[in-house]
Amino acid sequence: MSENHEHAAGDSVPELKQRIRELEDVLNACRLRQPDAPAEAVRELAESEERFALAVRGTSDGIWDWDIRTGKVFFSPPWKSMIGYEDAELENVFATFENQLHPEDHDRVMATLNDYLAGRIPRYSVEFRFRHKDGGWRWILARGRALRDEHGTPYRMAGSHTDVTERKHAEEELRQARRAAESASSAKSAFLANMSHEIRTPMNGVIGMSELLLGTDLGETQREYLEMLKLSADSLLELLNDILDFSKIEAGRMELDAHEFDLNEVVTEISQAMGIRAFQKRLVFLHHISPEVPPRLIGDDGRLRQILVNLIGNAIKFTHKGGVTIDVSMESQTADKVMLHFKINDTGIGIAEDMRESIFEAFTQAETSTSRRYGGTGLGLAICHDLVALMQGRIWVESQPGTGSTFHFTAAFGRTSGVSLKPRSPRIKPLLTARASMKVLIVEDGHVSQIVGARMLEKRGHVVSLAANGREAIDRCDKETFDAILMDVHMPGINGYEATARIRKTEKSTGRHVPIIAMTANAMKGDRERCLAAGMDDYIAKPLRSAELFQVVEQFAARSSTPQNATASPAPASPAPQPQIEPPPFDLAEFRESTGDEKLMRKLVAIFAEDAQKYLRKAEKALTARKAPQVYESAHSLKGMLGVYAARKALTISSELCEYAHAGDLKGAQLLLDQLKKECALLGAALLAAFEPGI
Ligand code: ADP
Repeated sequence: MSENHEHAAGDSVPELKQRIRELEDVLNACRLRQPDAPAEAVRELAESEERFALAVRGTSDGIWDWDIRTGKVFFSPPWKSMIGYEDAELENVFATFENQLHPEDHDRVMATLNDYLAGRIPRYSVEFRFRHKDGGWRWILARGRALRDEHGTPYRMAGSHTDVTERKHAEEELRQARRAAESASSAKSAFLANMSHEIRTPMNGVIGMSELLLGTDLGETQREYLEMLKLSADSLLELLNDILDFSKIEAGRMELDAHEFDLNEVVTEISQAMGIRAFQKRLVFLHHISPEVPPRLIGDDGRLRQILVNLIGNAIKFTHKGGVTIDVSMESQTADKVMLHFKINDTGIGIAEDMRESIFEAFTQAETSTSRRYGGTGLGLAICHDLVALMQGRIWVESQPGTGSTFHFTAAFGRTSGVSLKPRSPRIKPLLTARASMKVLIVEDGHVSQIVGARMLEKRGHVVSLAANGREAIDRCDKETFDAILMDVHMPGINGYEATARIRKTEKSTGRHVPIIAMTANAMKGDRERCLAAGMDDYIAKPLRSAELFQVVEQFAARSSTPQNATASPAPASPAPQPQIEPPPFDLAEFRESTGDEKLMRKLVAIFAEDAQKYLRKAEKALTARKAPQVYESAHSLKGMLGVYAARKALTISSELCEYAHAGDLKGAQLLLDQLKKECALLGAALLAAFEPGI
């Protein structure tokens, strides 16, 4: 304001004279309005009005001052020039304002004004299009305040007009740019989804063939190279799966597939599978599910597994000392829903505070050196974040650099209506003494996939026939019976769906039902449903993995109608053959499968005795001291470790030991511990025998 004064004083003489005249006018006007006011008050009023006049002149905004009682409005010259008019061209009445309003904005602006005058909204601030003399439209931001009498009735209102046309245009451009970017992004997501899907098919050959090659006689160098090849192929497939998931989520095509499942089973299986990595790094690895969590739930256990595998995988990856624990508890519940709270705690490197939010964004890693040192793409947590949101939960992290991190997530699940059929914990599967050999037909047009599937199953002791297309499959089924059919879905000519439909039609007269398993690289939503709807019994995704293949195919062994020849586990390099009733202490094939690396297997065998002894001694000590929780802890550690070696019997005994310790039955625990010691001794010997140098 003072600048304006100085500026005004420096103006030319005629201007100065003009201003003095104006000031006198203002003074007179004030005197007229307030004839009895003391001279001092009149001067103050005049000064204030002058300040207002200066402000009006000093701004490019248009000023308006509306005498509500008379309907007269003062529009400052910039108010008028903003829309292309000279001062004299527009009349100083309210209608001038109203007439310039865009017809589409008129009612909204009037309503806002009325609401403000009636005291329904605290501020008058509104944007609208205003007609310019050139016929075009300007965007105006109008703001104002009313003066009210002692009854609250407004009698005067003044304010400003600001031309915001440029900002509005910029906003519109931004909106358009965003729309364009969004459509480009969804095109990108669709492209990524298709591409990663297409790459999965040839990966079938790469992974399958390297698995097969690994099972043959190889020199040490060849084996080493091949193991590296297999590792690279596995991580490439993992990456493809991540990209596929991420692009599905981005494209809004990710949906949950809810059904009943056993939470304990999920957590135990994951812990066993992940335990191997923890064990390799000598980390303590524990999990606990609160007793109030219902054992059976309704939800997408596949996606839950994915989240857990990701978080536990990270926890193990970023921890070098100490351990990882998983804890599941009840967050809240209603009659038909439960909200569970999962906690994955580690004693690892931790995460700096400024990264704790952004690691949940795609492609973000807590430090740039991470991907070089630890690998990974930064997609895992972004996927977890979105999956958790689909499960109506949220994910967050607490962390202390150098001390460790705790990842939390909540997720909602449905309750089951019936009573729980399966026992809660721990799950003990019956031990398999022998596996039935099955007659399997593989229907597949791709040569590589044929060989991969056939060799895997043959090595496992099954008898495999091949059909190169749907037609051949139907013919073979007319003449022979199979225990299971692996059916490629996409084949030229008669495709998998059609072939299945025809086989099912023929079966109506024979009353038979051959299990048909769909094989497809299609990992898109709805495929599974489509396969089942076509009359297929199960579904397996390519690339085929031996463990999954065996599980899917062999589930039909018991149901099949052909006579079965019991064959012992093929385990080529297994120790001295055991009598059929007593299975070998460990399953070499499974051990190899889960370890995936000959060198690592040897390392694990070398440390077995020492580690087993350590935990057994701990358990013994705890038993002597009658400390059931410590017995449980050592038995639990043993269990995790035994899972790594695919030592089923020892694993079962340690599970039972856990149960007894948990229940506080120390007498039973002692009996089991004695058994476990014997079994571990046998296992140690068997492991050494299988990995004797030179074998
Ligand atoms: P990736 O592990 O593939 O890089 P994620 O999205 O799973 O991708 O994780 C993103 C980043 O978050 C990691 O690179 C790492 O920097 C950090 N991070 C995740 N989990 C942990 C953890 N348990 N401890 C320390 N840092 C972690």
